[in-house]
Amino acid sequence: MMVRVTVAATQKLRLDELDAEQAAAVRAPRGPVCVLAGAGTGKTRTITHRIGHLVSAGHVRADQVLAVTFTARAAGELRSRLRALGLGGEAGQVQARTFHAAALRQLKYFWPQVVGDVPWKLLDRKFPIVAQAAGRAGLATDTDTLRDLTGEIEWAKGSLIAPEDYAAVVARLQRDAPFEASKVAAVYSGYESLKTTAEGLWLDFDDLLLHTAAALEDYTSVAEEFRGRYRSFVVDEYQDVTPLQQRVLDAWLGERDDLTVVGDANQTIYSFTGASPAFLLDFSRRFPEATVIRLERDYRSTPQVVSLANRVIGAARGRIAGTRLQLIGQRPDGPEPAFAEYDDEPAEAAAVAAAVTKLLAKGVPAAEIAVLYRINAQSEAYEQALTEAGIPYQVRGGEGFFNRTDVRQAVQALRQAAARDDLPDARGIELVNLVRAVLARIGLTVEEPVGVQARERWSALMALVNLTEELGTHEPTLDFGGLLRELAARAEARHPPTVQGVTLASLHAAKGLEWDAVFLVGLADGTLPIQHVLGHDGAVSDEAALEEERRLLYVGVTRAREHLQLSWALARSEGGRKVRRRSRFLIGLVPDDSPASRIAPNTTDRRGPKRVHPTCRVCGRPLLNTQATMLGRCTRCPADVDTELLAALQEWRRDKAESLKLPHFVVFSDTTLTAIAEQRPADDRALVAIPGIGAKKLQTYGADVLAIVRSRLNG
Ligand code: ATP
Ligand code: MG
Repeated sequence: MMVRVTVAATQKLRLDELDAEQAAAVRAPRGPVCVLAGAGTGKTRTITHRIGHLVSAGHVRADQVLAVTFTARAAGELRSRLRALGLGGEAGQVQARTFHAAALRQLKYFWPQVVGDVPWKLLDRKFPIVAQAAGRAGLATDTDTLRDLTGEIEWAKGSLIAPEDYAAVVARLQRDAPFEASKVAAVYSGYESLKTTAEGLWLDFDDLLLHTAAALEDYTSVAEEFRGRYRSFVVDEYQDVTPLQQRVLDAWLGERDDLTVVGDANQTIYSFTGASPAFLLDFSRRFPEATVIRLERDYRSTPQVVSLANRVIGAARGRIAGTRLQLIGQRPDGPEPAFAEYDDEPAEAAAVAAAVTKLLAKGVPAAEIAVLYRINAQSEAYEQALTEAGIPYQVRGGEGFFNRTDVRQAVQALRQAAARDDLPDARGIELVNLVRAVLARIGLTVEEPVGVQARERWSALMALVNLTEELGTHEPTLDFGGLLRELAARAEARHPPTVQGVTLASLHAAKGLEWDAVFLVGLADGTLPIQHVLGHDGAVSDEAALEEERRLLYVGVTRAREHLQLSWALARSEGGRKVRRRSRFLIGLVPDDSPASRIAPNTTDRRGPKRVHPTCRVCGRPLLNTQATMLGRCTRCPADVDTELLAALQEWRRDKAESLKLPHFVVFSDTTLTAIAEQRPADDRALVAIPGIGAKKLQTYGADVLAIVRSRLNG
């Protein structure tokens, strides 16, 4: 078995498919390796090849490698790419899983040694228990409250914060907790104890990680057995590791250092779970002897898409932004990214469906097209529009392919067939005929049927046939049992085979993936960036969260190989009030001469309806990013800030924030204070013209601020 795998890997591994930096990371000796690089630069390709290299050079056996990532889809992508190198998918080969799936397997195996016969069950629905705990703590139990509480508990667990420490940590971090910290702590602690029942334990996903780490940390026999089994570790998308996942990783490693990590701090999009790019950025401090490689060449996207991506992330601020590298597009030219504004969401969705139809007519396969949005609830408009246009699609992160009734029936039928002893001994690609024959009995036709429902079912069954074909081509010895095991593994990881349909997915779920054509939809302020990082008057209430929203847009833009369209709608429903405006992240990116660049006519727009985007008051050029827009000048143009006025404003802000018990940036951000100190507004009108100051802030703080400015001007 091992010999076959090694030979296959050697044959398929081609170092000439890598550039010099990628090859250096691939060839680095066993030990710590870190690849820090932007989107589309081949990080995932590099790690799969590195695994192949370590295996074919005999440094490690394929089944001693554990590769982990964060989403089921990304793990699926990793497995597909490993399979293409002859390294994945089968027992005895490289394990590529999410952290959770890996921990689940390990815990199942080690539980009897560690805990004995106490039964446990996986808790995948937390709401009922959180609701009980919330009730006991005197909080409401409506869905919104439960969602906030559950999210907060997940953040705390991911950050390794125990219930009894929660309140203190929240105070130290000045974290915007959804409720009073002591209440959240009470719910958190109640939730933890309610999971222990007379019948056994409920373990949530984070408990799987905690128990796995603890088993390895506390039981020498477990640690020895595990460390004998796995010798080499690889983490993709390492920027999104939580302290809890890092603890598991540390427990896996023990004293060893055979660890390859790759990531892009500018794609950190899971901070709300406690994830932090600090582990990636500090890797070489932890392992001073690590090989560190930076990649800049973008192999995924056209120079046009790359240029937009560079501009999106170029506007970012903060420590993370400081680590970005300019991407250099390697592909031939393609079309310019398109921007489009629509009156309402249904019109936007219909237009996207029409544009998809055109792409299909041009020969772009449906599976190479994606529509990406900020939140899952946005999918509905697109599901409807695509259905009306007769375009097949699948929603990622929704129900999940293997949970579909028709897919479950089909897999069941295959299992029953496998149990019969008259099954012909088909292998590899021959399995396709066998699978087709079994599925024909439950209604798979040769021709695609008519009717939306029938077509959906047909596409789902055909997806199983196509998957068999793909697996059989790569694995000539694959037998029926092996196929069923692979299907089960995929169902567990919820990685559906590629249905020939357009992908609908959230930006979070799209991480690590790529398509020929990508539609980024719903790019309105309040959707991306999402409303809760903005204050009531559109001022930023949380700078760090705003930056994460910007990174989400960056992730979205960088998913496109060639075609990219960014769109937004002015109203939610057909004929609704046009109160929305395009995302602030698009300011300066939309070409001026396109009709889309006009700002939404907006009755509440205090700067007047005709205003195109703002220009620098020093040099007159359009302002390209949020900070510049707020300052009213390019960040490079000379500032005329009155430093004493700024100091006076800062002092006032500190006192105000203290007396209101608010974080200071909730009163005014640094940028807004700087803008005030530069522009020295004399009256309400001038004050409110400064971005970040709306009606509410004017009412609350206007008089104070104007008095400070006046006293400074007068004397
Ligand atoms: P992300 O940050 O989005 O996860 P990534 O850095 O992991 O991106 P990959 O997905 O590995 O990038 O690579 C992007 C695309 O470029 C893939 O289609 C990959 O096959 C291709 N690619 C990577 N390296 C090369 C190369 N040296 N030559 C040609 N194509 C390459
Ligand atoms: Mg990747």
